[in-house]
Amino acid sequence: MSDEPKRRPILSLKNPPKVVVPEVVKKPPEPPPAPQFDWKCKPCGAGIFIDEALGDEAVIRCPSCNAKLGTAGDFRAEPPPARLRARPVKRPNA
Ligand SMILES: [Zn+2]
Repeated sequence: MSDEPKRRPILSLKNPPKVVVPEVVKKPPEPPPAPQFDWKCKPCGAGIFIDEALGDEAVIRCPSCNAKLGTAGDFRAEPPPARLRARPVKRPNA
């Protein structure tokens, strides 16, 4: 037995193991649902949202200029009647 300590083999890092860092896929926070305006007031151009819970006889007024635009039933008619004082607005990706 010799007193010489046994040499440890030198560990080589020729091929260091690749550390795989799991990529955290960050999801962008979902934007809050924007109010969708299906209609625009003809007199002033303000967006109008028609509550689907409204009855057909409910009078729709412009929230901006208070003009009477028609009834909820008018808004649902296809095609919209000529008396309706609102223009349909295309929904994006509806
Ligand atoms: Zn208006």
